[in-house]
Amino acid sequence: MPLSPSVLKALITTPAISPMAKSTPKLTKTALGWAAHDSSGKLTPFIFKRRENGVDDVTIKILYCGMCRTDVHFAKNDWGNTAYPIVPGYEITGIVIKVGSNVSNLKIGERVGVGYVAASCLECELCKSFQENYCDHMRPVYNSIHWDGSPTYGGYSTMLVADHRYVVHIPESLPMDRAAPLMGAGLTVYTAMKHSNLFESKGKHMAVIGLGGVGHMAIKFGKAFGHHVTVISTSPFKEKDAKEKLGADGFILSTDLKQMLRNRRSLDFVIDTVSAKHSLGPYLELLKVNGIISIVGEPAQPIEVPATPLIYGKKVIRGSIIGSVKEIQEMMYFCGEHNILCDIEVVSTDKINEAFDRLAKNDVKFRFVLNVAGHQSSKL
Ligand code: NAP
Repeated sequence: MPLSPSVLKALITTPAISPMAKSTPKLTKTALGWAAHDSSGKLTPFIFKRRENGVDDVTIKILYCGMCRTDVHFAKNDWGNTAYPIVPGYEITGIVIKVGSNVSNLKIGERVGVGYVAASCLECELCKSFQENYCDHMRPVYNSIHWDGSPTYGGYSTMLVADHRYVVHIPESLPMDRAAPLMGAGLTVYTAMKHSNLFESKGKHMAVIGLGGVGHMAIKFGKAFGHHVTVISTSPFKEKDAKEKLGADGFILSTDLKQMLRNRRSLDFVIDTVSAKHSLGPYLELLKVNGIISIVGEPAQPIEVPATPLIYGKKVIRGSIIGSVKEIQEMMYFCGEHNILCDIEVVSTDKINEAFDRLAKNDVKFRFVLNVAGHQSSKL
């Protein structure tokens, strides 16, 4: 999710660019985090200060944080815009421990989640129409600068001070560890599918490319929305889990030309979650006429788009990034009703680098979740 280096530099050097900007940051709250300090991406314990709880803020004791491939991209500076030290993590669940005087919708002890957006201008058309995730002045929950000039540090940390307008309720029926990646992986596919009308329609033939943290949630939402769901994967060993554990209807091994040809023009919709360099050519061949491919994966290198399979079939390529707070809350309630949860492996903070390495090697079923509150010295 990169900003261009020049935009990022502007954000860092001119923190008070918004009409919402406050005066000097009051960084009074000590937190323990796990930070990368250079492009090796290695995470080490890091003590830092967060801002004082303001009138619009809540302070959250973080319980769990999902480990998205996005965190690896940022920690290793894949997109060339990382401002070190960086505390990654934007799939956050925790408990409210302090509430500002302007906050009426959240109470101490409440189960909450925080996602990628920490702040936005709240004044532009996008913010007013619940699309603040596309606001030009959107401030991510890490690798950015908050309105008050303080750096944003993410959820691989014991505590977070968050503006209540970007915090959602987690339904009681959802366990906090398995709910954490809903804030990112779940939301990403939920909104991309919704914006391509897969929420309203039923019985479409859809597929997900890449069975990782984001991809496995596309199967769950696809089935809950009433579609026929196929996984397109480079990993033959994932077929059994895709069908038997996650409920996929079909599995195509993308490295097997015969399987790809057999499924030519069979799909209405494809969601691409691939994190590495690839061409859309073979996948465009799988779409029916007027089919849609929605890109949510964000490889560091450009995605190749050959014109022929695109134009012979009026196919549509679109992109989507996370979702709005309104959409997160709506998705959380939908998950609560339909018992949709992420398949996770919980890791302790002393195994954080091992988890990062395994994620880079495609060795996770299907999302690592960091047990932040389980940290021995998480008194901070
Ligand atoms: P992940 O768990 O590592 O999954 C990515 C999957 O991509 C892998 O499991 C693998 O699936 C497939 N893959 C990897 N290398 C490939 C290659 N060379 N060719 C084809 N397929 C390959 O990562 P994730 O956490 O799901 O994130 C996926 C991407 O989405 C990342 O780039 C991340 O930054 C991005 N993301 C975007 C948003 C958004 O809002 N748009 C939100 C979250 C994440 P198979 O083994 O099945 O092939």
